[in-house]
Amino acid sequence: MAIRLYNTMTRRKDELVTREEGKVLMYVCGPTVYNYIHIGNARTFLNFDFIRRYMEFAGYDVTFAQNVTDIDDKIINRAREEGIEAEQLAEKYRVAFEEDMRALGVRPPSIAPRATEHVNEMLEVIGALVERGVAYVSEGDVYFEVAKFPSYGKLSGRALDEQMVTECVNPAERKRDPQDFALWKAAKPGEPSWESPWGPGRPGWHMECSTMSVQYLGMGFDIHGGGLDLVFPHHENERAQAEAWAGAGPFVRYWIHSGMLNIDAEKMSKSLGNIKTLREVLSDFDRDAVRMLMLGTHYRSPLSFSDESLAEAAAALERITNCRFNVRDAIARYDAEVGGEDGPATEAERGFRTMLNRTEEEFRAHMDDDFNTAAAMGSVFEMVRDTNSYLAGVTGASTAGEKAALRDSLELLEGLCGALGLFEEEEAGGEMARLADGLVGLLLEVRLAARAKKEFELADRIREGLAELGVRVEDVAGGYRWRLE
Ligand code: AMP
Ligand code: ZN
Repeated sequence: MAIRLYNTMTRRKDELVTREEGKVLMYVCGPTVYNYIHIGNARTFLNFDFIRRYMEFAGYDVTFAQNVTDIDDKIINRAREEGIEAEQLAEKYRVAFEEDMRALGVRPPSIAPRATEHVNEMLEVIGALVERGVAYVSEGDVYFEVAKFPSYGKLSGRALDEQMVTECVNPAERKRDPQDFALWKAAKPGEPSWESPWGPGRPGWHMECSTMSVQYLGMGFDIHGGGLDLVFPHHENERAQAEAWAGAGPFVRYWIHSGMLNIDAEKMSKSLGNIKTLREVLSDFDRDAVRMLMLGTHYRSPLSFSDESLAEAAAALERITNCRFNVRDAIARYDAEVGGEDGPATEAERGFRTMLNRTEEEFRAHMDDDFNTAAAMGSVFEMVRDTNSYLAGVTGASTAGEKAALRDSLELLEGLCGALGLFEEEEAGGEMARLADGLVGLLLEVRLAARAKKEFELADRIREGLAELGVRVEDVAGGYRWRLE
């Protein structure tokens, strides 16, 4: 089945037909690196990580470009506050952003262009726009003349006169018309600047994204994404610049916008003092709990963040984790035993396998329907419930087929969760994780042997030592099971 996605431009779900079959070229607006990112920014980056990962899971070869805005008023102001150069400040927070994305398990972009390294390319585009008469120079600034681009407002659905009313005029800007926007800003004394035909200055933010996306992905690339707050003016302006520059559209085939995150149903803002950084959140919660929280709400819907909602997400995640451990544990236990009868599949096995197939189909259908992660996870939770009941019926005496089905269910559970980036952290441990697994198992074998010989002191010492390392041991009939706390 084809993927359908809500396109902000057409205001409906469109079928994904990429420029080149099997390939997706996507661009997502990256961070302005002047601060640690907050949990709202994190939501947007995670949502695009889900979308990217799912398209890969569905078989597409995805090229993912995401810029770094490393020159901007906010960077200049913050650098003054911290008493360092703008360049140093941007570098500090760019590195912090990369660390944050790693901590969250967001895959790095295929291409991560920085604005300051593409000023020459932007100057070329601005020059061409001036030459074509759609941009004008005004005292060292260059502005895009919106009246020269008839379809302006089509993406955001704003009529031109509506914009006139809502735009407030900044007297420092030397525009002909309040809706015109800056492509190039003349440098004020002491600001970082680049030489240009119009004097020293720096590019406007919108210019950066349209120039770099077209440079790396070509005009008419597949998907352009960002938070909902970027539709106007940022994306509207990017589109105007790119299409006026190319002399034709479309700039982008599909526009995707991710919903805003609020804190306890209130907008996050400096004045309310309720800005929560991702770092704060990750100091208290696991990254998969954060992922789970975001997965639970459709990417276009608003999300009200609270510690309670995060705790609920963590508890939901635990249901999957427990099921996964129990299935793994059962597989490990029964692997050692000679399998039961080989014969036609029992009713229990057939029913279980039918459920597995249905889960995978439903998961894909939900994700194909505008990346409905909440519904897709719903299917995973149903599978967890059904797996738990099936598991209760599997014993050492079960048929080989019944035991083998457990292996398939584990593979499916891990595959579907993995498609959305869950449980990657432990996988990343690789060799060391396997070694640690093996060593814990070995110690527990020794403990069992010690108990059998009534050497309880030794058995307890092993149990306590493991507890200190965060390994929780549970005694079950004929053995033990363990998990990390
Ligand atoms: P910025 O660094 O401010 O340009 O933001 C980086 C990304 O985070 C952009 O795609 C924004 O749309 C997005 N963003 C900003 N605030 C929020 C929020 N409260 N909820 C969700 N996304 C946000
Ligand atoms: Zn952008």
